[in-house]
Amino acid sequence: MKIVVGVTTGSLGILSEAAHSTLDLVAAVVTLWAVRVSGKPADPVHTYGHAKFENISALFETVPRTKSKVTIPRHWRRVWCPVAQSYSSGL
Ligand SMILES: [Zn+2]
Repeated sequence: MKIVVGVTTGSLGILSEAAHSTLDLVAAVVTLWAVRVSGKPADPVHTYGHAKFENISALFETVPRTKSKVTIPRHWRRVWCPVAQSYSSGL
């Protein structure tokens, strides 16, 4: 829904919120999967059990969040120090 409104209105704020919600949904699905798997008992392949799946999923979920924290200062700089863009008047 947010994606549709963001694309329709061209609002970067709404598109950003849509990306945020999508990321949260993916994180929730990965967490649900990890909790289910980590509760399984040990088997011949995973002789120490499956508890580490939760740690691995937490690591997976930090990657996109860390990337967004790295890119925020870059975008912040863009707001305060905009680079002149060339454009054509079409004439
Ligand atoms: Zn297993």
